[in-house]
Formats: sequence, C-alpha cells, structure tokens
Amino acid sequence: MPRQFFVGGNFKMNGVTDSIKSIVKNINEAKRDPTTEVVIAPPTIYLALTRELADPSIAVSAQNVYDKPNGAFTGELSVEQLNDTKIAWTLVGHSERRVLLREDDDFVARKTKAAIDGGLSVILCIGESLEEREANKTIDVVTKQLTAVAERLSKEEWAKVVIAYEPIWAIGTGKVATTAQAQEVHAAIRKWLATISPEVAENTRIIYGGSVSDKNCRELAKENDVDGFLVGGASLKPAFVDIINSRL
Ligand code: PEP
Repeated sequence: MPRQFFVGGNFKMNGVTDSIKSIVKNINEAKRDPTTEVVIAPPTIYLALTRELADPSIAVSAQNVYDKPNGAFTGELSVEQLNDTKIAWTLVGHSERRVLLREDDDFVARKTKAAIDGGLSVILCIGESLEEREANKTIDVVTKQLTAVAERLSKEEWAKVVIAYEPIWAIGTGKVATTAQAQEVHAAIRKWLATISPEVAENTRIIYGGSVSDKNCRELAKENDVDGFLVGGASLKPAFVDIINSRL
C-alpha cells in the first residue's frame, strides 16, 4: 500500500483566539485533497478550541509532551491530558526545543515512547545544523537522533511515528533544501529504517520541513521518499491549503 501523503501545520507560539479561529475556518472550508492526512499543531492553550472547531477529518497535535505521567512538573503537559482532550498527536523533538531548551536525543526518545505507550501518534522531528551539514555529518546526526528512539520502540511501534526531517538551517529562514538534498536524506533515513525491518522502511512516512511554501511544495512532493511536509510559517496562511493539495 502506498504511504498516505501527510501535511502537518506547526503554528509554533503564534496566534490568539481570533486568528486561530480564522486559520481553522479557512482549512475547514477549503477544497482539500481527501487523500492527504492533515494534522495541525496550535499552541497548547488553543488545543481544545482547535479540536472543537476543526473538521473531524483534520487531526490536532500538541507541539510537545512530557515523559512522566503526572506530578510536580510545572508547565508541562501529560499524555493523559492530551487523550482527555481528544488530541491524538504530538510533535516531539522539534529543533527549536532541542536547541533553545537543550532537549537531548534521549529525552526526545523517552517522550516519544511515553506518547506511544499512551496511545498517541508522534511527529518525530530530526535534522542537522548548518555546521553539521558543512562538515558532512548530516546522515550521522539524523541516524544518531533516530537510534535513540529505536532503542526504546518495538518495530510495531514505528507505525505510530511520522519522521519529520527538518534541517535546522532551513527552518524559518526561507532557505529551503533543494529537492535533491531532501530526497538524499530521506532515502538515507529509509535505508536506515530497513535495519529495523523492511516493513518499517516501506511504511514509515518521512516528511520534509523547512521553509516549505506554496511555491516549492509541488517539486518537493514529486520526490520518491518525500511523503509530505511539516509546515511552520506557511501553516498560518491560506497558502497552507495549497501545500495540503501539493499532489493534486
Ligand atoms: C517548523 O517549525 O517545523 C518549520 C518547518 O518551520 P518553517 O516552515 O517556518 O520553516
């Protein structure tokens, strides 16, 4: 079975009630490719509102989750709380959290495992810095990030994971990876996934993130191993729908 095209929208720390309502209304009312799976990730405080307003065909994701079930963890969000509010997905390991909040590979792996144990699906973000790319370390960096997760997941649990390859130098910079650069890393990730099992390699969606827009999405979407996108800035704009429809 072909992998279902997947487009995620990461609103980051943007939006207030009125703008979130209008973004969701625009996505709800647009003509969307029914074969694309759409998941939107608003700021935590608007998760319940977004779930209430979004069409049932659109899934809602947290931008982060904690690895402990409950307790004295001020400011954190639990898997149980996400389930309780009908939020089926979470992002894990976004580079803004890895870099600004110093989340390391093991912490990201523990959160991935906790989310999956609690029944959530996970958009697992990985990617290299510009310095690492220039030192030819891209594949080493992403496989190290993935290995930390693989040490905690069974091969069946990979069915709950979408991998978002997001080169840090391309996030929010307007500097998108070329189709060849994206395809090269996605193919290497798929080859690495084959070390878990051929099924995991064949079935796991690998999406690209980093300055995706309505202008560049169609070319990227043609690549064999690009199974969709994680979109930041452009997910706040009407053009997000063109990205959802990039395979039409
Ligand atoms: C992101 O935040 O995951 C992202 C890819 O951002 P942008 O599309 O703005 O580069």
